Amino acid sequence: MKTGVCSKCGAREVRAGQGFWAKDAANFIAISPMTAWRGGKVAAVDHYVCAACGDVETYVSDASNLEYIAANWPRVE
Ligand SMILES: [Zn+2]
Repeated sequence: MKTGVCSKCGAREVRAGQGFWAKDAANFIAISPMTAWRGGKVAAVDHYVCAACGDVETYVSDASNLEYIAANWPRVE
């Protein structure tokens, strides 16, 4: 999806963009046990949407949050 080609249907109809309102509108996931207002940690995420088939992919925006997740979340085996 990040290349502009949908990973599900192959269409070049992927939409996303910096400065676009949807990127700044409360797109976060919790990455530690407590909620953000009680001392927890959240990570902003970017969404990529295919306008042809509706597939959505979500990526953590900040590399420092990826480091936290790698150090604290269990690996999928
Ligand atoms: Zn698609």
